[in-house]
Amino acid sequence: MSTITPPPTSTFWETAREWLHQRDGVLSRELLLEPSRFGLGQLPSRLQPDAVAQSTCGFCSTGCSLQIHLKNGEAIGLSPSGDYPVNLGMACPKGWEALTVLDSSERATVPLLRNASGQLTPVDWSTAARTFVDGVRAVQAQHGPDSFAFLGTGQMPTEELAFYGALAKFGLGMVHGDANTRQCMATSAVAYKQAFGFDAPPFTYADFEQSDVLIFIGANPCIAHPILWERVMRNTLRPEIIVIDPRRTETAMQATQHLAIQPKGDLTLLYGVANILIERGWIDRDFLESHTAGFEEFADFVRDYPLDRVVRETGLTATEIEKLVAAIHQGKAVSIWWTMGVNQSYQGVRTAQAIINLCLMTGNIGRPGTGPNSITGQCNAMGSRLFGNTSSMLGGRDFTVAEHRREVASLLKIDEACVPSRSSWAYPEILEGVRRGEIKGLWIVATNPSHSWIDQDGFAALREQLDFLVVQDMYATTETAAIADLVLPAAGWGEKDGTFINSERRIGVIRKVKRAPGQALADFAIFRLLAEAADCGAMFREWSTPEAVFAILQRLSIGRPCDISGINGYAMLDQQGGIQWPYPASSTTPTTERRLFADRRFFTADERAKFLFDPVRPLPEVCDAEYPLLLMTGRGSVAQWHTETRTRQSAVLRKLSPSGLALEIHPADAAAVGIEPQDQVLVTSRRGQITVTAFLTETVGRGRVFLPMHDPRVNQLTHAVFDPHSRQPSYKDCAVSVTSADRAPRSAGPDRLASYPSKVLR
Ligand code: SF4
Repeated sequence: MSTITPPPTSTFWETAREWLHQRDGVLSRELLLEPSRFGLGQLPSRLQPDAVAQSTCGFCSTGCSLQIHLKNGEAIGLSPSGDYPVNLGMACPKGWEALTVLDSSERATVPLLRNASGQLTPVDWSTAARTFVDGVRAVQAQHGPDSFAFLGTGQMPTEELAFYGALAKFGLGMVHGDANTRQCMATSAVAYKQAFGFDAPPFTYADFEQSDVLIFIGANPCIAHPILWERVMRNTLRPEIIVIDPRRTETAMQATQHLAIQPKGDLTLLYGVANILIERGWIDRDFLESHTAGFEEFADFVRDYPLDRVVRETGLTATEIEKLVAAIHQGKAVSIWWTMGVNQSYQGVRTAQAIINLCLMTGNIGRPGTGPNSITGQCNAMGSRLFGNTSSMLGGRDFTVAEHRREVASLLKIDEACVPSRSSWAYPEILEGVRRGEIKGLWIVATNPSHSWIDQDGFAALREQLDFLVVQDMYATTETAAIADLVLPAAGWGEKDGTFINSERRIGVIRKVKRAPGQALADFAIFRLLAEAADCGAMFREWSTPEAVFAILQRLSIGRPCDISGINGYAMLDQQGGIQWPYPASSTTPTTERRLFADRRFFTADERAKFLFDPVRPLPEVCDAEYPLLLMTGRGSVAQWHTETRTRQSAVLRKLSPSGLALEIHPADAAAVGIEPQDQVLVTSRRGQITVTAFLTETVGRGRVFLPMHDPRVNQLTHAVFDPHSRQPSYKDCAVSVTSADRAPRSAGPDRLASYPSKVLR
């Protein structure tokens, strides 16, 4: 690996976007291996810790463990845990800066209530709690019990997520609630549930080191999951690493093969690959006959995807496709990994299931180094999926199944009548309900849809429809908090206890190592306060501490695929380096690394995995003469996290991020409309127009452009289409035009962000 020189000044980042892009993969490794060169993890010499606490990182789903250095019980610094089976002594820049982002002038420190003149003004907690309850009750009384909904997150510990969902549905009578995991992981959850009978990612991180063929589809772990990429780098089998991605991403640059597929050509490719494998008999007949259902129908179906069609529709050559097929056939342990490039698609569920189908056909499941493996996004997306009590009920149950409702009511010792018998609307359906005037109140916790929701201006218009908007967040400055009627100040990671579940199903503990600023409270404490104010405190008497709730969740998990009843409290999680579910009371297996389906028994009624498939659908928004380019969005750099609400609070992370918003465009496409490097350009879709800097690069192919998702303007452009099974937004395929800002007429007015808050404030 070549040596690189760290940037001398911040202006470097403003002028050397290309360097950053070309080297970010390398940069990530340098940051991981020599963090002090970048100003990370330096503890003032006058401070010597007197104790250490272990805590799971609160950014991404990798679930790294951090050692928090304490003095007099307060955090004074951190370093990555060396003996934790996830990160093995490493942390990415976000983890190193996890404490820094807590110290910010943008923190919400006191409850804020919008007064008669439209200003958010401080109130005490008692007033805030009473206002919350009165507001919920008033909306429900006027518009019906379903008219107040909640939108949560994958960023809170599992105990808080469970409390949030239980309070909203069982205590406050809400029916509709969802989480921002809809934006990243709903597709994988539905794909697994339909194919395996339960939302069950089968892998363990050791699989990165035990595969001889690793295929990444729509995934860029080099910057999105850098510690997991490091696990790939530790693989001593000299593996074939194949990246299927329209962009030449940082990961693609380091792969042994990069298939620069047409955007959304992935499903056609996967069906075509399956067809060739079947034609040649390169399948595991014994496994198929004994452990799966629906293979023969699938084999018939994929005959419609011969090689010439796949070449035509994917933009790949026959040689590239044949090479991929051969790698899968010749691999002894083939693993296929995906993230948002698959999930954030209008046909994401069937694409994820096409990956599952390939692994089933070739017997690449349940063995070391194998698996159809979805890498999650947020630190506790997996906790949200199992215990969020939104689209599924606590423990992966179904609200519409009477037996499940009875079980939960009995285990929680509550009246069964409090448990809704209908499924919740998904996130887009809730927003559609707002548009129709059926949802008149929203309680939003730890998420920022004004920035992150697809077709952002659509969300801004919806704000006008709401009678009461409550935002509960660490920061008072998010785009969504700025337009709330009531802001409840919350503690963040490091200021509260609980557990997260990472991508490989590992439950890890987070610790309170710092006091929250001002009057901010842990979300857990806020839920207790609101329950008392709403006169349903008695329902939650047993929910006294996060660890008490963990015990309740263990009880709720008994007999479920995610049974964790054998875990002996947080202390055991600390001692074992986290524990992967399932871990039932009868468990005697070693806990360090475990994958699912080693016994070839799936969670369906007949214990067989299902083949699921549908014909490929065309792009919902095709390019034409007016909008000739396809816009893809994705992660910008290793130092940025989602809407940057937290990462922008760190000077180090800001320095490691590109300043300004750059559009990746192929030089030939740029030349066709007279755009030079660093030109200001207008990017226009059917929904909006923004001004950005042109970055000419061949990392995107002809006819495609790319924008990082972190800038608040990007979702003014995206097109609100959704996967029909998961209802996940399809962020990566809208048609745009790109013109010089100096020469082209502005077709949709100036960037709308500047006028956004005033437009919606009442
Ligand atoms: Fe935290 Fe993810 Fe970075 Fe690990 S890779 S330190 S979990 S942000």
